[in-house]
Amino acid sequence: MYSLSGKRIWVAGHRGMVGSALVRRLQSENCHILTATREEADLKNQASTLAWMESHKPDAIFLAAAKVGGILANETYPAEFLYDNLMIEANIIHGAHRLGVEKLMFLGSSCIYPKFAPQPITEDALLTGSLEPTNEWYAIAKIAGIKLCDAYRKQYGADFISAMPTNLYGPGDNFDPNSSHVMPAIIRKAHEAKLRGADSITVWGTGTPKREFLHVDDCADACVHLMKTYSSDGHVNVGSGQDLTILELTQLVCKIVGFHGDIVHDLSKPDGTPRKLMSADKLRSMNWAPKIDLEDGIATVYKWFLENRA
Ligand code: GDP
Repeated sequence: MYSLSGKRIWVAGHRGMVGSALVRRLQSENCHILTATREEADLKNQASTLAWMESHKPDAIFLAAAKVGGILANETYPAEFLYDNLMIEANIIHGAHRLGVEKLMFLGSSCIYPKFAPQPITEDALLTGSLEPTNEWYAIAKIAGIKLCDAYRKQYGADFISAMPTNLYGPGDNFDPNSSHVMPAIIRKAHEAKLRGADSITVWGTGTPKREFLHVDDCADACVHLMKTYSSDGHVNVGSGQDLTILELTQLVCKIVGFHGDIVHDLSKPDGTPRKLMSADKLRSMNWAPKIDLEDGIATVYKWFLENRA
């Protein structure tokens, strides 16, 4: 059991959706939360990252800083998705080793798994097959991050762990149509179509791929739970254990938003991986389960969108 009480906890990437959820969640722990702005620490630069870490002396780190984006952003910016993520994780994980940080959690994503992994995907499916081409750049970087944690554990006994969340959604998400993930994209499209009185909205691909979704506040709660209780090599899946098709998701979002028009498919856009439901067994066996139901979660995010972005 690792106690966060009285500890200096650095949330790297605190302005992102996951990082900000971690900051919210850590407020109920008796710890001192550290954050670094881009001006204070350039996480892609080793010297800048190390200097910031040396002066702020974190006891533990949640590594939630990353270049993230949806299927189109991944396809458009492969160099940044690979380079930025490799640099950020290498600088922080190596820095944590150099400074003797007590505990570090690296956050990845379900896209680390082979495109055709048996479903639901258990942790041991890692590196058993080819990746989904639309996000292999990001996936390769995230696999490297898991292996960095395991390597420093094996060679130096560092208590570095990895958690792989499923597709996350929540307040603070990116609602930009070109770079966002599917959930915020559909919320925005349905909302704007409702305002315009449009007949239809257009979703990318066939609508048949299945995706699993987890509210980011559930994810943050799982991460804090793992930080306290998990200390081993190998990553842990963080998911809801349930998935639905993109068409079903679109219908649900339209119902919540109150848009009653048609759903049209843009077949020039990629489907990506057909399915990536992760097994939730390992995390469940550690006594954690999600609390936020998908429909309620989408309703609260739509409310957040109306208040902050619409
Ligand atoms: P992925 O999980 O890495 O594939 O990333 P996304 O969340 O970007 O996409 C998930 C699925 O939703 C893919 O099959 C997309 O083609 C589909 N999708 C449908 N409409 C949209 C949209 O407007 N934006 C995005 N990003 N994906 C969409």
